[in-house]
Amino acid sequence: MKKLLIANRGEIACRVIRSAKKLGIKTVAVYSDADAHAMHVQMADEAVHIGAAPSKESYLQGQRILDAAIALGVDAIHPGYGFLSENANFAQACADNGIEFVGPPTGAIEAMGSKSAAKAIMEKAGVPLVPGYHGDNQDAEFLKQQAIDMGFPVLLKAAAGGGGKGMRQVHQLSEFDEALAAAKREAMSSFGDDLMLVEKYLMQPRHVEIQVFCDKHGNGVYLFERDCSLQRRHQKVIEEAPAPGMQSELRQQMGEAALKAAEAIGYVGAGTVEFLLDVDGSFYFMEMNTRLQVEHPVTEMITGEDLVEWQIRVADGEHLPKTQQQLTLKGHAFEARVYAEDPDNDFLPATGTLKLLQAPAESRFVRVDTGVTEGDEVSVYYDPMIAKLIVWDENRDKALARMQSALRDYRISGVTTNLDFLHRLAVHPAFAACELDTNFIQKHEAELFAGQDVHLGDKLVYAAAYLALRQQQNRSHVIPRSQDAHSPWLAQDNWRSNETLEQVFELAHGEDLFRLTVFQQDNLLHIQHDNVVHLVDARLNGRTLDIALDGRHEQLTVFADGNQIQLFDDSGSVLIEQQLPDLQLDSDHAGPADFAAPMNGTIVTHLVEAGQSVEKGQALLVMEAMKMEHSIKAPAAGKVTEFYYQPGELVDGGSDLLAFEAD
Ligand code: ADP
Repeated sequence: MKKLLIANRGEIACRVIRSAKKLGIKTVAVYSDADAHAMHVQMADEAVHIGAAPSKESYLQGQRILDAAIALGVDAIHPGYGFLSENANFAQACADNGIEFVGPPTGAIEAMGSKSAAKAIMEKAGVPLVPGYHGDNQDAEFLKQQAIDMGFPVLLKAAAGGGGKGMRQVHQLSEFDEALAAAKREAMSSFGDDLMLVEKYLMQPRHVEIQVFCDKHGNGVYLFERDCSLQRRHQKVIEEAPAPGMQSELRQQMGEAALKAAEAIGYVGAGTVEFLLDVDGSFYFMEMNTRLQVEHPVTEMITGEDLVEWQIRVADGEHLPKTQQQLTLKGHAFEARVYAEDPDNDFLPATGTLKLLQAPAESRFVRVDTGVTEGDEVSVYYDPMIAKLIVWDENRDKALARMQSALRDYRISGVTTNLDFLHRLAVHPAFAACELDTNFIQKHEAELFAGQDVHLGDKLVYAAAYLALRQQQNRSHVIPRSQDAHSPWLAQDNWRSNETLEQVFELAHGEDLFRLTVFQQDNLLHIQHDNVVHLVDARLNGRTLDIALDGRHEQLTVFADGNQIQLFDDSGSVLIEQQLPDLQLDSDHAGPADFAAPMNGTIVTHLVEAGQSVEKGQALLVMEAMKMEHSIKAPAAGKVTEFYYQPGELVDGGSDLLAFEAD
């Protein structure tokens, strides 16, 4: 292999390019209109423009990508994950054109495409399955009898499903008929196929997956396991390797079962066999992902292997770099997915400019896989992942401590992120105690989503101190240029004759407004907030604010953008807005509200009728994007005058969804 095209974008494209470079392989990036200046384009030796921003007009344009590959004399295409990575037609088209698809053979992708077909293959190969029915008989009474026989609760699953769609838990017989009808409806509208499976619903399973690798010479190994139990609505949030408490005997059993699964479909390359691990140590095949996984770095950290390098070598016809006996497992690794999203608002994807993007320093303990730099845009078009933060250390406790502090060192401003949510997860005592199961986040909701306003009072004082010091610094830049350092005309403070030098700052946090007064005496700031006067000794040096408040010392990073001030310290970050008198906006009458789709997705339902009066904050419409449902809310009392899309319709990110008239 001399030249590799990466049919992907973002962190995974950058990740693949790094390994290719190490192997002396030339790289070709592809990019959409939105990505002309993206990191992956800059890193590659060559880059080809493949279309407009929406992925179906660019990154999903298999033929266009293939044409570019042929024109540039590319030997192989690496699909990354997502997009075309599990598209059997694309893999076949590559083969037909003499281009190596860095992935499994077409047949293996097809075999794992349907949950029921995959289960039938696995059953034949002797891989344990969750007890259940995955045959063709779809008669409702027959399926119900299957449920009765295996005992409630059961899980109904769409054979064509993905991302938790077409899935329903049924806890008792009386709920069965309705749940089946609803799951079928959802499956039909999402996948155009309502074939159903019925399986035993496990109450406290862990999601444990095995990384397998096979070459073209019939060799296969497993690179141990990853525990991905920390999920929100079936999406992984923090992954780790090895799985806590995993005994070597069970590891071997699961590893061998996974290899059996891979061999059953003639697998080649990197693959992941996902299992549910029950409390009693039983494990059951769930599905196989026929590509590199987002969370592959945790496996790399504990094995010291480069899995992308392995993929390239295997695609090139080499033997696997190591045998099972040569593979060893060392230490413990975590990966946290840093997203532009709002955990406190149903994980709504966020967009905007990454005005501040400071990752923790990388070392042999800390790795940051990303595809963006400061100033880049998180757009509506793609998955809003900003980076993967990966940490390693000798054992789980030490690795967890590394992750906690690395999350605190991550500083992002300009878009809402899940960093504080990740930190709350990382410091949760139940997580430290390895009390893992796929319902973890739901179970601990109260602590994980709790507001972070506990020390807001201090933060307001810090913000006021920052503003006062900044004003002082700005003033000191002006004075040297003037003739008269004491000219009252140059003063930029609130000095009034015959009054104490006192400044008033109006600060907002969310919907709440605060008024703080500051006056300076003997190099100390006296800051009054809520009828208490705090004595503050503060120094501002660039973005670093050293502050002693009532005798407690803290160091903060402050990032100011316009009238927004974001403070970062060991307790997280908080966004405070300075209300400038002439710019003050009443949120009810703020400019035209934004009813743009936060990203590509499907309209699920309208919650109100056009013309109906709605209250401020009332949910108007539900759309599904990134496997999640999001509601669009009324910014004020008023009415929807028109819905531009009907339930079931696909929308591009950024499209206006409705017209709204405020009262
Ligand atoms: P999808 O392809 O829609 O993501 P999966 O079959 O991969 O669906 O399952 C996704 C998640 O649903 C799993 O990680 C697990 O948390 C949960 N799950 C799936 N099957 C079961 C089951 N039988 N019992 C309990 N939870 C399950």
